[in-house]
Amino acid sequence: MITDKRLLTRRRFLRLSMTGAAAAGLSGLSLSLPAWALDNAGDAAHPVPGHKPRAPRLLMIDPGHGGHDPGAIGISGTYEKEVTLDIARHMADALSGKPGVTAKLTRDSDTFIPLEERVSISREARADMFISVHADSAPDRTARGLSLYTLSQKGSDAFARSLAQHENEADLMGGVDVPSSDKEVNAILYDLASRRTHNTSLHVKSQFADMVGKQWRLLDNPQRAANFVVLRAPDVPSMLVETGFLSNAQDERILSLPTERMRIARLMAKSLEAILDGPLFG
Ligand SMILES: [Zn+2]
Repeated sequence: MITDKRLLTRRRFLRLSMTGAAAAGLSGLSLSLPAWALDNAGDAAHPVPGHKPRAPRLLMIDPGHGGHDPGAIGISGTYEKEVTLDIARHMADALSGKPGVTAKLTRDSDTFIPLEERVSISREARADMFISVHADSAPDRTARGLSLYTLSQKGSDAFARSLAQHENEADLMGGVDVPSSDKEVNAILYDLASRRTHNTSLHVKSQFADMVGKQWRLLDNPQRAANFVVLRAPDVPSMLVETGFLSNAQDERILSLPTERMRIARLMAKSLEAILDGPLFG
């Protein structure tokens, strides 16, 4: 049984897809434009005089791991799940009261949430951006610094293929009975929406690396891509941040200090606030 809330989310996704496709078809807009830009292009046909106040953007912050899943355990015993929750809470605190951004957490306690559920929480809250916070380990103990991940194209393709299956397609469309002649159109709309989402994620990753990198050590080649389950939402731009490596002695020491955790949290919050308030998100 699908709740009204879920239906609302699915309908919004369909509306986004339809608006985007219509805008792309009618005006020849590049498909690389983010969904918000295409949405605005649709609105441009009915301009509102003066400045239209815009709703705060919703940032979903996902502290990695939790409960029976400690995540990485540092060489001095630091638990990743505690580092990520502390940083996420500080990020939310830093954004509290800001007019342009509202922050929510997928978990605010030491609890385990399956990866797919984290994606669902983000989609059902209609988040504008999802950021998963981590501090993992690497076999190379000299590896250190912050790195950023978006979904790899390979992973995206595999996900898109799996969604071509009837059951998944039906779920994506909120259980709406789609005539078979429309299924190809729906697949194209889905592809358009997920491409725009992915493209927005890439822009966020680039801007975020530039901003955070000015004041926090980055890993060599910090902008990366991998097939993370938490990054698979087709309609919510997303990014996974490895704030450092608990397998590196210096990084672990930094991330075990409350003052440093607050510093990176405020830095990430400030950067995301600027990005969400900027032209990328309309
Ligand atoms: Zn992790």
